[in-house]
Formats: sequence, C-alpha cells, structure tokens
Amino acid sequence: MRTRPRLDCLTLVGVLVGLWSGMATATATATEPPIRVGVLAYRGGDHANAAWEPTIQYLAQQFPGRGAQMVPLDLPGMDAAVQARTVDFVLTNTGNYVELEARHGVTRIATLHSFRAGTSGGAIGSALIVRADRTGIRGMDDLKGQTVMAIDPDAFGGFQVAWGAMLKAGVDPYRDLKELRFSGFPVDRVVFAVRDGAVDVGVLRACVLEELAVEGRVDPGQFRVLAPKTVPGFDCALSTDLYPDWPLARLASTPEDLAKAVVVALFQMPADHPAAKAGGYEGWTVPLDYQPVHTLFRSLRIGPYRYLRDVSLIDIAREHWEWLAVGAMALLWWAVHSLRVEHLIKVRTAELRTANHDLVREMAERRRAEETARERQKEMDHVARLSILGEMASNLAHELNQPLGAIANYARGCTRRLEMGTGDPAQLVEITRAIAEQAERAGQIIARIRNFVRKRTSQLEPMDVNEAVRTAVSLCQGQARNGGVTIALDLADDLPLVMADRVQIEQVVLNLVKNALDAMQDVPGGTADGRVRTVTVHSGRDEEGRVAVAVADQGHGISEEARARLFDPFFTTKSGGMGLGLSICRTIVETHGGHLWATDNAGGGVVMRFTLPIVDEARRAGKEEQPHG
Ligand code: ADP
Repeated sequence: MRTRPRLDCLTLVGVLVGLWSGMATATATATEPPIRVGVLAYRGGDHANAAWEPTIQYLAQQFPGRGAQMVPLDLPGMDAAVQARTVDFVLTNTGNYVELEARHGVTRIATLHSFRAGTSGGAIGSALIVRADRTGIRGMDDLKGQTVMAIDPDAFGGFQVAWGAMLKAGVDPYRDLKELRFSGFPVDRVVFAVRDGAVDVGVLRACVLEELAVEGRVDPGQFRVLAPKTVPGFDCALSTDLYPDWPLARLASTPEDLAKAVVVALFQMPADHPAAKAGGYEGWTVPLDYQPVHTLFRSLRIGPYRYLRDVSLIDIAREHWEWLAVGAMALLWWAVHSLRVEHLIKVRTAELRTANHDLVREMAERRRAEETARERQKEMDHVARLSILGEMASNLAHELNQPLGAIANYARGCTRRLEMGTGDPAQLVEITRAIAEQAERAGQIIARIRNFVRKRTSQLEPMDVNEAVRTAVSLCQGQARNGGVTIALDLADDLPLVMADRVQIEQVVLNLVKNALDAMQDVPGGTADGRVRTVTVHSGRDEEGRVAVAVADQGHGISEEARARLFDPFFTTKSGGMGLGLSICRTIVETHGGHLWATDNAGGGVVMRFTLPIVDEARRAGKEEQPHG
C-alpha cells in the first residue's frame, strides 16, 4: 500500500474550511457560469476527452448549480487561454505548469496522485532503455556516440527529465550523441525502434514500458534500463529523479473561494472513482513542490528559462575560460610583441636617420677635404714646377742665349753686308731665314717653359711617353752641358700610348733627370774608366706590359737613411732643395695607376724607375680613380 504525502496542519484546516465554504459557495452560486477547466490535450482532443472528461463531470456534479466545462487546449492555446482568462483552472503537465506559473502567475492547488507515485509523491521520471543484448551500454557515460530516440523535445518525462540527467552525467544530447531522434506519439515507436536496432537507446517516461507490457505489446525482458535507480514506493524502472505529476492550477483571477471548493471536491474523490480510473490516477493530493522542475528547466534553459539561451558573453567566458585564457595570453603576447617591434622600428629608424645624417655630413666633409686636397696638390705641383724651373733658370737663360746670340750674329752679318753693299739678295734671304729659325727656336723654348709653369687642371689624354721624355730632357740640356754630363736617350720605338696628363709626366721626368744631374754634380769629372759621365733615360715595357721609364745616373747614390725617407715631403739633402720633387712625382705616378721607386745603379749611382699603365688598362683603372689636377 502506497502512502500519500501527508497533509500538514494548515492545509488540513484550509481543506476543512474550504469544504464548508465550498459547499456554501456551490449553493450560493447556482446561477453562475460553469467552471471552465483548461485541459492540456497533448495527444488531441479525443484522447483528452476520454481521459479527463470524467474528472470534469465529477466536478460538475460537485457544483450542481453551476456545472463544469472542459476546455481542451494545446500548448499555445493553453497560454492564450490563461492570458485571456477564458478558463478558471488549468489541468496541465508538469512542464507546462511551470511555464504558466512563471509567465502568468497561475498557482497549483492540487497535484494528481498517480497510483504509481513514490512515497515523496513524485511520479514523473524517465527510463532509458537499450536492447538487453547491448551489454556495452550501461551508464549515462556510454551514451556518447550513440543514436538515441526520445518522444518529443517538449515531452517532460519522455525527454526533458532524461536530458537533465544526461547533462548531470556530462553528456550533452545535442552535442555528444551520434544522433538524437524524436519519434512523436505513440510512445511505443521508441520501444520498437530500440527493439529493432534502429536506435541504440530509447527515452521513455518511466512506467511506459510497464504499461505497454501490461497491455501485452512489448516483452520487457527484451530490454534493459540504463543507470537504474530505485525510489521507495515507485515500482517502475527508472533512470532519473522523480518529479511531481500534473497539477491543477487556478488563475490569479479565479476567486479564492471557488479554488478552495474545487480542491475540496477533488480531495473527496474516492480512489476507485471512474473519473480517476479514466485519468489513470488514484486521486488528488496537496500541491507538491515544483521547484525541482524549475531547477531542471533552468539547467536546460527551456520553458520560462528559455531566455538563458541567449548566451551571454559571461556564459561563453565561463564555459571556455581555458581557451579564452590562452587566447588572452596570446593576444597579450602579440600586443607586447607588436609594441616591442614598433618601438624597435622607431629606435632603429631614428638611429638610421642619425647615421644617414652623419654619413651625408661626412661625405660632404670628405668631398670638401678632397676638393681642398686637390687644390693644394695643384698648387704644390705648380709651385714644384716653378721651383724646379727657378733652379734651372740660369741654364734656361743659357739655352735661350744660343738662338738669341745666333740671331744677333746673323743680324750683324746682315747689317755689315748691307753697309758694305756686298749684300747678295739671295744670301740675305738665307741669313734672314736663319734669323727667323733661331727666333722660332727661342720662341719654342719660351713656349715650353710657359706651358710647363702655367697653372692648369689635369687633362688625361692618350700620349706617347717618349715625347714627354724628349721635352723634359730638352729643358735639362743646358744644366747637363754645364755639368759636363751627357743625357743619353734609349727610347723604345714601339711603345703603346698611355692615358696621362702630358705636363705631369714631363714634370716627373724633368724632376728625375734634374735629380740625376744634381747627384752627378758633386762627383769629380770623368769616371774611373775615363768614359764621359752620362745620365741615361730608358723607355720600354715591363714584364706586365706596362710602359716603364728609367733614369739612370752615375752620381753619388743614396745613403740608407735617405732611401728610407726619399719620398717623404720636405726631405732633402740639398742646401737649396725643397724636398718636394719626389713626393709629388710619386703622387703623380700613382694617381695615374703606376709606381715610382729607386734602385741602385750597377755601375754606381741610382736608377729611378716609374711605370704607367697603357691606354686600355688606364681606362679601366681610370673608372675607379681620377688623377689629381
Ligand atoms: P730636392 O731635389 O729638392 O732635394 P727631391 O724630393 O727631388 O727634393 O729629392 C729628395 C732627396 O732625394 C734629394 O735631396 C736627394 O738627397 C735624394 N735624391 C733624389 N734623387 C737622387 C739621385 N738620383 N741620386 C741620389 N740622391 C737622390
């Protein structure tokens, strides 16, 4: 024998008072409209009529003057009717009641007492069934990856209760199953689908399996219930908690007295009343606590808690906090990295800008310095040429004296002939032509000197080194003669042209020849074997094919100390020397891409040599460096 939930004192008092006043009201309101009871007809009006009409008839009998009327409604119709207050009471399933309670403030006044209910009064739960031979599926955990069939997404015992239990076990049926199917009514479809292997697991309202077995439609031995639970007083196979059965609820607008009277009438219904039998219940009991249903719906975010589905950012954060944390860290790292890179770029750009600025300044300074150096070099070249010519001035004067003396002689001879009247015109023409020749010769000497000393800018051109040698030597002939020295030329005929500044090359040769003459000046006249003292200027090609010039003397030679400092500026051993000649010569030769060096002459004295690249080679080198001007 099952025990009904006990009525507490207040409820008992209320019931007794209600009994009395309900009777009174029923009598007093004989002329009032019938009591309208909205009944959830979830399987159509006919089914609802069959199940509930007897209950409504029972009520009508309890209120003879007024009567009662059943209003079958589907879910939306129920909502609309409550909102429009076209019913006084609603008899609906647990889930729908919770929703109406939340939305419209309906209040349960009695709960259906099922003959199957447990001792707590709970009567609705879910049973998850598998075929008995599917031994691999035992607990809720095993549902992952299975195909599950339930009645309907809105079925309370037929899905929602099981859904809550699955979630509690960590299985989200909408995410973790292979497939979730809904069969719709009749519920035996689920049972058959499981039996035939069309699905792995079936979700039924608890007791449906037993009911079908009683009707002889299924063999319960073919099935096994997952995660079976026992609830005292509840005989059906069960996989979940139990929730209260259908309630009868009154609208907020329904008079209190009427509500009490209806409750009393229902409580008085005998357990074996045909109405109870038709509705499949045992009677009515005090309204049970529907809070667990609220909790379930809240966790499922359905019914009145559907709004919770509008997932908030906080929900996402709560659910995926690990990933969000990783993302936030990554974002932070990226932000820090970007800032660092940006900072570095800024710093480097600033450094580059400064470096570039410095470079530009340095380049300008260097260009200015080079310009100044070139100007100085030009000045020095000029000074050196003036100085060398100054040193040779007396010799040059002597050189000039010869044509001038010849001119004077010729002119005097001519005058004499004219005075004596012996002037044969043909002879006179001959003499004046000789005068002109000598004047030209003097003019050439002066032109050469002028050319040599004038301030000028370096001009590279293909030139014959032998010509420069001859010009330079011609300027030294006077000094050589005075010193009793012969300048011998040993020039190669087939020399290739060099790319050079003619005057600068003349300057080099002139310098070397003059130094050779100077070195021989102090040496006593005549060599040991009695040969005339000679400065020899050779030209030819070295082993690398470059043009080479050598000035060999038989002078005093170079001491070790002088050899080390020969090309230093201002190094001189001569009393009137400036010590610039060789240093300038080396600069000139190297600027042309050549070399200048000194060796000892085998027969005593010194050989000064320099080389110059020939035209092609010079052109190539010239692209890299320009000689100074
Ligand atoms: P300077 O002729 O004004 O002295 P140079 O630079 O032309 O300047 O020569 C520097 C020094 O090198 C000379 O003073 C001399 O001592 C030495 N020198 C140059 N050529 C010869 C040579 N052919 N033989 C010996 N010494 C030489």
